[in-house]
Amino acid sequence: MIFNNTKQAYIHKTDKELYRALYLFRIISNKRIVFFGSKIAQFTLRYRLPIIGLFKHTIFKQFCGGLKKEDSIKLVNRLDKMGVKSYMHYASEHQNSESDMDINVAKTIETISFSKNTSALPFTVFKPTSFGSFSLFEKKSSGVALDFKETESWNRVIKRIQKCCSYANKLNVRILIDAEESWVQDAIDEISEDMMKTFNHKKTLIFTTVQLYRKDRLKYLDNLFKRSVKKKFKIGIKLVRGAYIEKENKRSLDLGVSSKICNSKTATDKNFNIALDYILKRIKECELFLGSHNEKSVIKVTDWMKKNNLPNNYSKIWFSQLYGMADHISFNLASKGYQVVKYIPYGPIKEVIPYLIRRAQENSSVSSQTSRELYLIRKELKRRSIKVI
Ligand SMILES: Cc1cc2nc3c(=O)[nH]c(=O)nc-3n(C[C@H](O)[C@H](O)[C@H](O)COP(=O)(O)OP(=O)(O)OC[C@H]3O[C@@H](n4cnc5c(N)ncnc54)[C@H](O)[C@@H]3O)c2cc1C
Repeated sequence: MIFNNTKQAYIHKTDKELYRALYLFRIISNKRIVFFGSKIAQFTLRYRLPIIGLFKHTIFKQFCGGLKKEDSIKLVNRLDKMGVKSYMHYASEHQNSESDMDINVAKTIETISFSKNTSALPFTVFKPTSFGSFSLFEKKSSGVALDFKETESWNRVIKRIQKCCSYANKLNVRILIDAEESWVQDAIDEISEDMMKTFNHKKTLIFTTVQLYRKDRLKYLDNLFKRSVKKKFKIGIKLVRGAYIEKENKRSLDLGVSSKICNSKTATDKNFNIALDYILKRIKECELFLGSHNEKSVIKVTDWMKKNNLPNNYSKIWFSQLYGMADHISFNLASKGYQVVKYIPYGPIKEVIPYLIRRAQENSSVSSQTSRELYLIRKELKRRSIKVI
């Protein structure tokens, strides 16, 4: 019931912002519009067409902190006043050159620097493939030996990641390492575990991400935990269901192999619950970062905390939602003292378009979540006596 309090959920939104959110969610709940909209966005990006303004005042405003870090910091401070912490990300996903990858390192270092100066930003994040070419991650994950040139490139990827993690360690800012498509994930897992081994001794600085829509991740989690006990390092786990389901299923169909993804949403949910139980049972030895907009998953954790007499602000459990989504969870949890962190991407529009396309696709495919958002926004507009057309 806690999530039905819309006054608290949208306390940070003006009437105009809320109205815009209503229209945007209405539009992106339509699969056909999202399909053609994504194609147009990709076309715009490729041919540098000047219709960026259209994105800027609609979907970008809903899901991103701003074009520059200064705009996002204003937002971070606004959320902090309501007890909601943030983590910021220069969300550039496509880089074609080594110099683009170095720019991404510089941006991550910059984010770590300003996160150090405020308790409103307890985490930073990076997407591993923003530091190296996707095809290199793919080859490394496949187990095929890299040639001389590729090995040199791979060493540069590792150096970039080490640079970010050791800087975060120096400034004592936690880092989340995102999970990506399964065909690049083995290389990412190897890096994440190495970073945890190096930096997670006295504290849990580095968090890896585990996607429970994958059939094999319970076993992976169990093995990771056992290795951490044996090698004496702490593990931080960002637990998510997984964002690349359409790509994953298409690829396995194209290759004629069985999909790594659970056969149904129910199977994913079952996996997710087992993983949650597994981690909660071992919470003294690890930390949980729950990245989910699923009310039942969140309630499962808060109920468990209550049952085990843990305070709402228990330091080893974090709840996280994406900026622009599931505010009813974030702001209501924060009002009860839980540790809540919003993910705030920022950057030039052309850089964040792939992220925005994923958000639009997610909102059109997970229809129950979008209709819940729409219901709650309508309810709040009504409470504020604003007529909805
Ligand atoms: C803070 C945060 C960080 C995130 N970081 C990452 C990340 O690093 N990597 C990443 O991949 N994702 C990431 N995500 C996205 C996440 O994986 C989910 O896509 C998204 O949160 C929706 O899942 P849910 O638990 O919120 O909600 P739900 O609505 O309960 O679940 C939707 C999810 O269930 C799964 N699903 C849906 N239909 C089926 C089906 N037919 N069969 C099998 N499974 C199905 C899919 O994973 C889908 O995204 C992050 C999300 C958040 C909130």
